[in-house]
Amino acid sequence: MNFLSRIVCPSCAAVFEKGRVLGLCTCGSPLLAEYDLDAARNRFPRDSLSGRPPTMWRYREMLPVQRPENVVSLGEGFTPLIQARRLGAALGLKNLYIKDESGNPTGSFKARGLCAAVSMACELGLRKLAIPSAGNAAGAMAAYSAHAGLECHIFMPADTPRANVQEAKIFGARVNLIHGLITDCGKIVTERKEEEGWFDVSTLKEPYRIEGKKTMGYELAEQFGWELPDVILYPTGGGTGLIGMWKAFREMEAMGWIDGKRPRMVTVQAAGCAPIVRAFQNNRSQAEPWQEARTVASGLRVPRAIGDFLILRALRESKGTALAVDDVDLVEAIKTCGKLEGVFLCPEGAACVPALKELAQQKWIAADERVVMFNTGSGLKYLEVLERQ
Ligand SMILES: *Cc1c(COP(=O)(O)O)cnc(C)c1O
Repeated sequence: MNFLSRIVCPSCAAVFEKGRVLGLCTCGSPLLAEYDLDAARNRFPRDSLSGRPPTMWRYREMLPVQRPENVVSLGEGFTPLIQARRLGAALGLKNLYIKDESGNPTGSFKARGLCAAVSMACELGLRKLAIPSAGNAAGAMAAYSAHAGLECHIFMPADTPRANVQEAKIFGARVNLIHGLITDCGKIVTERKEEEGWFDVSTLKEPYRIEGKKTMGYELAEQFGWELPDVILYPTGGGTGLIGMWKAFREMEAMGWIDGKRPRMVTVQAAGCAPIVRAFQNNRSQAEPWQEARTVASGLRVPRAIGDFLILRALRESKGTALAVDDVDLVEAIKTCGKLEGVFLCPEGAACVPALKELAQQKWIAADERVVMFNTGSGLKYLEVLERQ
């Protein structure tokens, strides 16, 4: 089914066999899946994609599931790439695109990662999964767990958007609301998982969520006719999608699908929780935890990202940048984009709009460059954010 060869540690270079249950590396770093790209170069030409169903599984040779019957699918991926002419004009950009992830199952791009992780959990014989979540990851994991018949334990902050709490309950998950942040939820999962027999599906604490999210990079290349855009803006919490796309670009180049030209990657965070932005500006290779994280963009309320060094590495290798935006500006941007494009951005995706405005004004982005901003989820899941305004 695929070219998965082994699992490797990007920090200490340890190597693990595929087909085993893996969490973090013994050195504490996230692990990454590695594929036999030489074999893929010969046997997986990009033309073989034509006619395949429009889901992320069209790239199955570059995804970790070995047996097709283990794939737990609700129709995730292959989301629209929308040219945003009117919003672009308002920002002084001639070639702005929105990669609109809101149409994924459970209304966010978390579906991609959790689809891959739950499928792998099935393949590896795991029965009980646990996850700390800022909201959308919980809904996605609950949905895929329900579809596969697995037990799902969720820990999320008590002030998570109501839609996320409701959907997780509807999908039959055991929902625990915690007075604290996602990092506090993560601690509870870490403390209890051994005794409870739970497998920890936290961001980057197992190697497969990122494999699902990297398919956004494959899709962008395919949808742009195998030529990547000049700039990508990514609302960054744990950073899985950004790290994943950067990995996808390397894989596609090694397979001869694209040339060596890479987009400049831009991390966008909320001013009330911007650990990656601060570390980037201070030239650090890792980020200090953010104190008293606060933002309505719940997916960006991640005070500490375990893959911080991988995010920062991708930003620098790509000659990208990082910037933070105020909550008032991102809420305003939901309305602006709604009126100009008919796309209902989530607060996280909307953070890209004020960031774009600033980068265009500074001429960091030229007017005719091809720019993609990610709308990572549906605005419909955040009604209380708008009702509060
Ligand atoms: C989780 C989430 C993010 C952040 O994604 P990462 O890959 O963890 O950085 C952004 N937007 C939404 C809507 C999310 O749910």
